[in-house]
Amino acid sequence: MPLTPVPNLIAAARPGGLGAFNVITLEHAEAIAAAAESAKRPAVLQLSENTAIYHGSIAPLALACLRIAADSSASVAVHLDHATTVELIYAAVDLGIRSVMYDGSTLDYADNLATTAAIARWCHDRGVHIEAELGEVGGKDGAHAPGARTDPDEAVEFVDVTGIDALAVAVGSSHAMHTRTAELDNELIARLAAKVPVPLVLHGSSGVPDDGLRAAITHGMTKVNIATRLNIQMTTTIRTTLATNPTLSDPRKYLTPARTAIQSEVEHFLHLLA
Ligand SMILES: [Zn+2]
Repeated sequence: MPLTPVPNLIAAARPGGLGAFNVITLEHAEAIAAAAESAKRPAVLQLSENTAIYHGSIAPLALACLRIAADSSASVAVHLDHATTVELIYAAVDLGIRSVMYDGSTLDYADNLATTAAIARWCHDRGVHIEAELGEVGGKDGAHAPGARTDPDEAVEFVDVTGIDALAVAVGSSHAMHTRTAELDNELIARLAAKVPVPLVLHGSSGVPDDGLRAAITHGMTKVNIATRLNIQMTTTIRTTLATNPTLSDPRKYLTPARTAIQSEVEHFLHLLA
């Protein structure tokens, strides 16, 4: 099916949440699209700036994701996650990506406001959906404590001035957590959802237990970003496969069960968020 715009996916996912999953390898993208098909739920393939840097260029994996999304029988979009430079946004849009996140959270508030507004205008001139961040979600590069919280009034002003289409909020989650012990501030999610006129995005969702993610959706969270859980499943499966088969050398022999493990994890979250 043709690539589905993110706003259509958000609408299709409601009253549930939209699962967005980070792609590092081709196997991630294949597994996420397969899970969207088997779960009969929309899903987002996300490429982060760190992954683009890892591959040396965003182009090869982005083009693969766009093709996998277009060939899928499920509704799948491709999104650029956590871009801190306009150059990467330009490159992603040039390749055909129609949804981006600009992350100006390390800038001071006035700079984040002005830069995000300028990038949002550029995106909207091209029909591109833009997500941005206010109040840094903890954990990324250890920059902020997980105690960061988005102020609802500041969020309303930020959305109004920048014109963005979705807002990543700090409500108690933290990136790259290996335990699922984060406690979200559901009362704050409800206040943000009531005041902010665009969909809210939860980053660092891998650190939130299942019942916490369900409660976040109930309280008004819309897009849920998951990365670390998939990588834990992938790496654990590869480690076990290699440990039990010490002479194995064909990467397909350990990437096949790893891809299946990612697919199962994505299916779990897609059903949970439905
Ligand atoms: Zn994030």
